[in-house]
Amino acid sequence: MGRPSLARRVARWAALAVIALALMGAGVVAFAAVTPLPKPEVPQATLIYDVDGRVVASLYRQNRQLARPDEIPASLRQAVVAAEDARFYRHHGFDLVAIGRAALRNLQAGRIVEGGSSITQQLARTLYDLSLERTFDRKFREALLTVKLEMRYSKDEILTMYLNQVYFGRGAYGAKVAAQEYFGKPLPRLTLAESATLAAFIRGPELYWRQPDRAKARRDWVLSRMAELGMISPAEARRAQAEPLVLRPPDEGEVRAPYFVDYVRDRLAATAPEVAARLYTGGFRIYTTLDLDMQTAAEAAVARLDQVVAPLGEHQGVPQPQVALVALDPASGGIRAMVGGRDFATTPLNRAVHARRQPGSAFKPFLYTAVLASGEPITTPVACRVRQYPGGAGGEPYTPRDYGDPGYHDAFLDIRRAVAVSDNVVAVEWMDRVKPRRVAALARRMGITSPLTTQHLTLALGESAVTPLELARAYATLANLGLRVEPFAILRIEDRDGHVLFRREPRAERVIAPEVAWLVTDVLKSVFDPAYDGTARALGIGRPAAGKTGTTDASRDVWFVGYTPDLVAAVWIGSDDFAQRVLLPGGAGATGSSTAGRIWQAFMRAALDGLPARDWPRPEGVVRASACTLTGSLDAPRFQWREEWFLAGHVPAPNCLALLQDPHVREDLAAAGQAPRGLVPLPLPSLPDGPGLLPEGNLPRGGPAQGGGATGGDRAGGAVPPEERPGPEPGRDDRGTGGEEGGPRATEAEPDPTPGQPPAAGHGARRPPDSGVPPEGGDPTGAHPDPGGQDGAGPGSDRGAEAPADGGRPGEPPVPDRGGHVP
Ligand SMILES: [Zn+2]
Repeated sequence: MGRPSLARRVARWAALAVIALALMGAGVVAFAAVTPLPKPEVPQATLIYDVDGRVVASLYRQNRQLARPDEIPASLRQAVVAAEDARFYRHHGFDLVAIGRAALRNLQAGRIVEGGSSITQQLARTLYDLSLERTFDRKFREALLTVKLEMRYSKDEILTMYLNQVYFGRGAYGAKVAAQEYFGKPLPRLTLAESATLAAFIRGPELYWRQPDRAKARRDWVLSRMAELGMISPAEARRAQAEPLVLRPPDEGEVRAPYFVDYVRDRLAATAPEVAARLYTGGFRIYTTLDLDMQTAAEAAVARLDQVVAPLGEHQGVPQPQVALVALDPASGGIRAMVGGRDFATTPLNRAVHARRQPGSAFKPFLYTAVLASGEPITTPVACRVRQYPGGAGGEPYTPRDYGDPGYHDAFLDIRRAVAVSDNVVAVEWMDRVKPRRVAALARRMGITSPLTTQHLTLALGESAVTPLELARAYATLANLGLRVEPFAILRIEDRDGHVLFRREPRAERVIAPEVAWLVTDVLKSVFDPAYDGTARALGIGRPAAGKTGTTDASRDVWFVGYTPDLVAAVWIGSDDFAQRVLLPGGAGATGSSTAGRIWQAFMRAALDGLPARDWPRPEGVVRASACTLTGSLDAPRFQWREEWFLAGHVPAPNCLALLQDPHVREDLAAAGQAPRGLVPLPLPSLPDGPGLLPEGNLPRGGPAQGGGATGGDRAGGAVPPEERPGPEPGRDDRGTGGEEGGPRATEAEPDPTPGQPPAAGHGARRPPDSGVPPEGGDPTGAHPDPGGQDGAGPGSDRGAEAPADGGRPGEPPVPDRGGHVP
């Protein structure tokens, strides 16, 4: 029972305070009553500039057009009263019940969350341009002016003044302008539904008109409220609620990047309300991060949408599928280009910012950042085969599959290849090893702000929905070699006299180690590499680039997110109704690479045209070394000896048998029937123990019949299944590069920093032996790439000297470090 009594007490205090204020201010009220209304300033257009000082938009609206009282339809008066101040005709300027309720809510929240302002109070604020700042002083003056208005004018006069003053969004001050702006008709001809729509917009003037679903929900709420208050009958409310909400497209005039300008307006409303309130008349100069050349490139690339996808009809009058593109400067987070849909005039919803959609495989880079940050080598093989995990739908085991048929590679894939071909099964297995909780935490640190599941392995496949902007931001952390930035649009605001009202300070925070970000980027380069069957092998842009495709269930969302050191861009295509599949023009299901990827490619080529190609500088803590991995089909797995990049201190043991000690690898081999569970395959005869002596060899099956490792690797010998493309050969430049078109390759021609040094031999030196997962509480960011710490010097550490050839001598099979790990 504490709440009502508290509410009553608060209401009484508020009432007493108001009366006191009114008495104290009686003289001021008398003075104010004889002074004229303040003269409005001469309206002046606000100019928005791009990063090179070119004008992006000139924002200007005609002066208010005042409506005569008889022009205002009763439905609009009633709707506004219902929406903003239901007891307007009964109170004397202050709705004490509303004030008490607001005070109670604010007390409970510990801050101002609700205003409780009556229509008269709101009018006082707008008439006299009182800032929305909620200080006592402002409140005091507002209260005086409210009393004055109530003394001098009738309720109908106050409401008329209010409707002539209030802001409805899109530059429309006053109901007469708003009726033209939104419905293209004179005020007296507004229907009930249209009146309710305008009333709905007052609470969020720059919010609702862009988001048709939310706008309709609020309009329908206003109509219900009107029925509750007896202004209209329930049947009238229902009829009006059944009407579609159709707004006239905004006439943006001289706006060259409408979605971006809209984003700027949106940001201003949140961060500089005093500028937003006078945006169309205040003559501000707003300097932004946009690059008009890149914006032009973005609009041209998005205009190719109908060449890459089939039309899907309309959803609420808007053609589908829709599209979004957002590009950031990774170094600062400045937004360089932004397209939020096919056409701002017909669909102002900015999907780059507001469309929260499943990213599919475009989420995988966060998973693999966690994997590589744990010290796991890129060469660790995982079999793509039928795998089951607890927690599937309906109590069934969860059984991940690859995109398309047959659903499994039935082959060993190391991390580089698993990322390049976007393997789902391998990704889920890695997620099971590093755990969703840790990956979600890392993704958040990298810049994802939407809620992420911490429970389900499907996080690996992009189950948790995100927006294009936050995805671009989180990829920028990789492009930036580990520094997270915040996307932003406004660099500086000046008033009409050139005084700086706002200036943005650069900020960036290190969230992952540069070595880890570099490795992930290097792996993501292979997505463009035909040698790795990369899903984006046709999407090169002629310079070093990294990226990832995304395609969700049944192609409902298709993505491409990719970056160079200078630019990161995310492209999304999907249907606003979440239901329809994105199709290729021929009718087949679309993939990220065949659709969003082509728009990304067209954009990046044009946006970066003329800029020098750059590659990422390799951090010192990354070393090149030879390592053994498993490749080939499950029927005939092969050792492969190749060069790869590693975190210093995490170079794997220089022999292939060490690989067979990994319990996960043993499990995979056992599942493939290559060796009985719990036993190790026979060691290769005369197994050499150093790099270069063991090129490739078939894993022995049931004895030495398959031949020795040194000779069995001859690929021409027919041991390789035809569908299995051989991986790069040792020593070859097998790093992914910027593309298939002879663009500049990475500078690995320089000598490897570790030639001749004996690589660390201890298997255990590279990671915790059982799973590759760092110990609980370990730093998932890899900020300390060597959990051991003391011997981070890498190759030649004395641990390696203590544990030579942990693969054991021939004839002495190594024993797994941990038995029974795999369920
Ligand atoms: Zn697979």
